Amino acid sequence: MRDCAKERFRPEPMSQSAQPIDIAVVGAGIIGICAAAQLAEAGQPVVVFDRTGICEETSSGNAAAFAFSDVLPLAHKGMMRQLPKWLMDPLGPLSIPPVYLPQLLPWLIRFWRAGTFGDYHAAVEAQASFMRLAESEWLSLMDRSGTRTMLREDGSLELYESDSEFKTSLPGWAERDRFGIAYEHVSGAQLAELQPGLSKQFVKGTFVPGWNTVSDPKDLGKAIWRYAESKGARFEQARVEAIEKGPSRQSERTVRVRLSEGRTVEARNVIVAAGAWSHLLAKQLGDSIPLETERGYNTTLPASAFDVRRQIIFGGHGFVVTPLATGLRVGGAVELGGLKRPPNFARSKAMLEKAKRFLPGLDPSGGREWMGYRPSLPDSLPVIGQARNAANVFYAFGHGHLGLTQAAATGRLIRDLVLGHTPALDLKPFDLRRF
Ligand SMILES: Cc1cc2nc3c(=O)[nH]c(=O)nc-3n(C[C@H](O)[C@H](O)[C@H](O)COP(=O)(O)OP(=O)(O)OC[C@H]3O[C@@H](n4cnc5c(N)ncnc54)[C@H](O)[C@@H]3O)c2cc1C
Repeated sequence: MRDCAKERFRPEPMSQSAQPIDIAVVGAGIIGICAAAQLAEAGQPVVVFDRTGICEETSSGNAAAFAFSDVLPLAHKGMMRQLPKWLMDPLGPLSIPPVYLPQLLPWLIRFWRAGTFGDYHAAVEAQASFMRLAESEWLSLMDRSGTRTMLREDGSLELYESDSEFKTSLPGWAERDRFGIAYEHVSGAQLAELQPGLSKQFVKGTFVPGWNTVSDPKDLGKAIWRYAESKGARFEQARVEAIEKGPSRQSERTVRVRLSEGRTVEARNVIVAAGAWSHLLAKQLGDSIPLETERGYNTTLPASAFDVRRQIIFGGHGFVVTPLATGLRVGGAVELGGLKRPPNFARSKAMLEKAKRFLPGLDPSGGREWMGYRPSLPDSLPVIGQARNAANVFYAFGHGHLGLTQAAATGRLIRDLVLGHTPALDLKPFDLRRF
């Protein structure tokens, strides 16, 4: 396979006469790639800048789900109730390194407030509308880009270890009824048929047919990028050091993008899609956005490790098992540990150990461990919209657990904004001014 990241476009060092580029996208994760693809389709010249490559970071190793039915904000999803139990276990589903706690505290307070005082119905409504767009935009983009064969339409299976755990989940499922999300509670032979070989400790499950997965998120990202390139998008490997309001040129005001190695380009429009690092760039333009990272871990085993029929969700343990074309991925968990600490792969190992108990017969050998940085805002909604002080800078980040699911819709909304069209969705819930 051609390495898309090797495609080189070298912007000229800036001089007074250098022409501005039309659209600079910062970040070649799945969000930046989908935005670039949709802008290029609309005939817009786009250059994507990334310090590593195309879909090489968090978007490369996630759990591969198009989780269109996942409409409940995290702070409401029973997480607050589980917090004390989870925090007691240093390798459990949620952890906070004690030294990071002081820095994290303002975000945690916002998270708690979103779960306690936030308008629950408005939050679910906003996420559900976004998910409807997410589904239609992905199916359409996959058709246009010839990637539909990468979609696995076999649903997911969430599992419960006791009747009381199952009963606790029921209000959340009832909430989904309001949006016509299909699901079926199963047990006994039906459960065993949906996933043979499960440990007997799982007494009930919920099958969600509209929750799909992709064959491999990195392969999908690279394929969408090849499509974007075929429509004229270009890639430049460079770290974006700074974004500044640039000089006015005749009637337009450009943005100055400072790159590594002292290079600079001017752009008519900039899209910040730099995942968990986006707030650092937004801050330079005067926007203070409470973005944190929920670090997540997994291990990808050889595909032969176990015959997993569809994504299995161990909700009470905070991890999933996904069958990919490239292996069997076991992982999840949340570590609120910031951007600088080294990974603690004891977390991947702990989840693999549990998976072995839950799926007796699973071969845990030959795995590849990985950690990624979910870019997370306290109310579980991303920021999509214009910067406060620069009308030609657009933000597209903070998708948390749902960035793969919502990437095509985000790309569509960014295209609408850049082209000055009415956005396909009311963007008020996603406006940065909510913070
Ligand atoms: C364990 C785990 C499982 C997950 N499972 C799912 C799932 O099943 N379904 C789902 O929808 N989501 C899932 N997610 C979430 C999803 O992976 C993220 O929301 C998504 O990848 C974020 O995409 P992004 O493009 O915003 O960020 P990234 O993929 O992080 O991309 C940002 C890019 O910006 C670049 N960058 C940053 N700063 C700069 C700079 N200054 N200059 C140049 N480049 C820069 C980085 O190099 C990076 O390539 C999961 C996440 C984790 C960790």
